[in-house]
Amino acid sequence: RTTSVTVLGLGLMGAALAEALLRDGHTVTVWNRSAAKAAPLVAKGAVQAPDAGAAIAASPLVVVCLSVYANAEEILASDALAGRTVVQLTSGAPDQARAMAGLVTGRGARYLDGGIMAVPQMIGGPGALILYSGDEDAFTRHKDVLAAFGEARHVGADPGLAPLLDFALLDAMYGMYAGVYHAIALARSGGVTASESTPMITDWLAAMMHAFPEQARALDAGEFGTDVSSVATSQIAFPTLIETSVRQGVDPAPLLPMRDLLDRAVADGHGADGLHRLIPLLETGKG
Ligand code: NDP
Repeated sequence: RTTSVTVLGLGLMGAALAEALLRDGHTVTVWNRSAAKAAPLVAKGAVQAPDAGAAIAASPLVVVCLSVYANAEEILASDALAGRTVVQLTSGAPDQARAMAGLVTGRGARYLDGGIMAVPQMIGGPGALILYSGDEDAFTRHKDVLAAFGEARHVGADPGLAPLLDFALLDAMYGMYAGVYHAIALARSGGVTASESTPMITDWLAAMMHAFPEQARALDAGEFGTDVSSVATSQIAFPTLIETSVRQGVDPAPLLPMRDLLDRAVADGHGADGLHRLIPLLETGKG
């Protein structure tokens, strides 16, 4: 079933979202601060609105994708919002999402926040995941349209949840980048090229991934024992790992936070526990 959708913001991501909606046969109204960016979409059938207010008035579903929330606040300060559903896909913090939800619902509209787990080229294709949080009824009503972007997954009623999980996934990604880049540098210090070491590293990571589901189950059950590998085993190995890195002329910086955590876990008497003991150690509870 096709419908009318507005897209506010036609940067790299906004343009990809608008294009995916056009591909699915929806009537798409677009607006962008720099009007010229609408031209390729108009050529594909989009309608260009003269201003943000007119774009909002054009459709029951309004997708927002700007660089930061502050811009969105200004643009959504429109009386035309009443009765519409706003889907905010601009990246931001959970608090910003909750504040935006307050602003939008205060104007009589429904609110969904979203975290895009994809680059623009992936939008509408396999592997694109968009996390949504906020008004569940609105999600149910519009999920078929939102499927144009990729898998649409509602993660909870609190509008801050999608941005929180978005950051959690980025967090895991950056930690992985830090480890992989350090590993490649260490291999290069021994004359092993990145092309040679990378398949070894990625195969190893893939094998290690299998440990996480069992660790997650144990953590949720409050179980910390292990018959795989203890905190103490890793903690004992770490000084040699760091010394080797330094001797090979590779900055050990990416390893140091893990060393500190392992040291703390052993000092706190958790040496015999599994590595998932480090998770509650990170939870300081201080905001
Ligand atoms: P771009 O820099 O390509 O686009 C930014 C958009 O914000 C443009 O439409 C720009 O308008 C608009 N904008 C900036 N400042 C203002 C302002 N003061 N008033 C009105 N409009 C403004 O960024 P992306 O499209 O790549 O990213 C958009 C959002 O999507 C970001 O929050 C990003 O984190 C998120 N995202 C992006 C991903 C990516 O891979 N690109 C991946 C996942 C999320 P103008 O054209 O006039 O400058």
